[in-house]
Amino acid sequence: MRRGLQPQARAERESGRMEIEMAALGIPKNTIEILQKYQFHFQKKYGQNFLIDTHVLDKIVRAADITEDDFVLEIGPGIGTMTQYLCEAAREVMAVEIDGKLIPILADTLSEYDNVTIVNQDILKLDIGEIVQKKNNGSPIKVVANLPYYITTPIIMGLFESHVPLACMTVMVQKEVAERMQAQPGTKEYGALSLAVQYYAGVEIVANVPPNCFMPRPNVGSAVIRLDCRREKPVAVRDEAFLFRVIRASFNQRRKTLQNGIGNDTDLPVTKEETAAALRKLGLPENVRGEKLSLQEFAALSDLLCE
Ligand code: SAM
Repeated sequence: MRRGLQPQARAERESGRMEIEMAALGIPKNTIEILQKYQFHFQKKYGQNFLIDTHVLDKIVRAADITEDDFVLEIGPGIGTMTQYLCEAAREVMAVEIDGKLIPILADTLSEYDNVTIVNQDILKLDIGEIVQKKNNGSPIKVVANLPYYITTPIIMGLFESHVPLACMTVMVQKEVAERMQAQPGTKEYGALSLAVQYYAGVEIVANVPPNCFMPRPNVGSAVIRLDCRREKPVAVRDEAFLFRVIRASFNQRRKTLQNGIGNDTDLPVTKEETAAALRKLGLPENVRGEKLSLQEFAALSDLLCE
């Protein structure tokens, strides 16, 4: 059974001198061989685009900064290409895959490792808090994934909002989504997603990844982002849930003013006039749009409207 790299090999890998033998699945011909052996057909509905580029795989694992003390959760291992890298670097890996047809393949491609558990489940239905308790004594875990793009936001926001102990997430997402997560006020990419993600984490785009690094090729560009989960929130608010309702309402009608967005939202017990008064109090123009406000300004607005 193989478990982790020997110190010499680890040093060589870190200095980039070693072609890792187990990286074989990142080579297209080896992925094709496995797909043919098991007569596997890609399922579009599961967002199956497998990585076939060893440089990208190396970059993701390096950016995730995994040590032999880490417990790593991988979402959607596919045929186990990245899982092999994770098993080499981490103490323990749990890989959660929804597609039952991939489970026998994973048993084959990961057979050399005794530090991996494969779970055949929908990640959105799993109690990750319980896993962190059992497998990592409740200490923050690292999440690494080439995410299925159709559920990127529910996965990331679900992990943040359920307050699972997380150190960081290093994940492949659609390029446009990565840009929205990292966007700053005043840009066209800035919106509710930027604010929600930046409330919970520091965001860094690690690499842009073109479609030819996947099999099959996706129709969109991709990017690897690292989200470093904050120990302390960047703003203190009276009511976190209310803050996010205000943010969502402010961006609901993007071309309208924030005052209209909030005033017209049937979910929020706030009138246009009350919003205008709060904006005046904050020294902001009454016709300001949501995309101009920073998280700090949204927090102050939310506290005033909450009163
Ligand atoms: N990690 C592999 C790679 O990089 O080659 C595969 C990545 S592929 C983009 C996304 C993977 O997520 C697929 O294997 C897919 O079956 C799996 N998946 C899709 N929806 C899922 C869900 N709700 N829960 C767990 N896995 C899911």
